[in-house]
Amino acid sequence: MSIIDKAVEANRNYAKNYKPAPGGRPYPKIAVVTCMDPRLSDLPGILGLPEGDIDVIRTGGPAVTEDVLAELIVSNRVLGTTEILLLNHTGCGFTTFTDDELNAKLSASTGDASPAPMRFFSFRDPEQNTREQIDKVRSHPWIAKDVPVRGFIFDMETGLLQEVQPIARSTSA
Ligand SMILES: [Zn+2]
Repeated sequence: MSIIDKAVEANRNYAKNYKPAPGGRPYPKIAVVTCMDPRLSDLPGILGLPEGDIDVIRTGGPAVTEDVLAELIVSNRVLGTTEILLLNHTGCGFTTFTDDELNAKLSASTGDASPAPMRFFSFRDPEQNTREQIDKVRSHPWIAKDVPVRGFIFDMETGLLQEVQPIARSTSA
């Protein structure tokens, strides 16, 4: 039996005690952008926040792509979240290859190079990655200026968050 088949079967049990959330829509308070890594799935535990308060946007890395920016804007402007937390982590799989390497490897192993070059948003340094993310989100004109945008690195060894200071912005104006 495949994992998906097992999950579909388990869902029948889940539905027996399922209670729909009141209000018919979500009321998240904070948007969290984090990596697809399953070790970051317990955000209520890691952040001590109720599940319903967290709008979770996940990509590998995480990468703050155009799609992620669009989701943050919806989270902020449509759903009403008031803070943005960018959550990187140590030991990310996306630091273990470069986009060039993975493109070459997949082209060779599949014998089909037609999708290359794909962007996988690999990176080397989680601190630098976080700083670039903060800058990208902060500088978007549709993210409200009064919404805090803060970046952290989750340490896989200790379980602790470490804040990353943003790139100092020149105030020449
Ligand atoms: Zn990761």
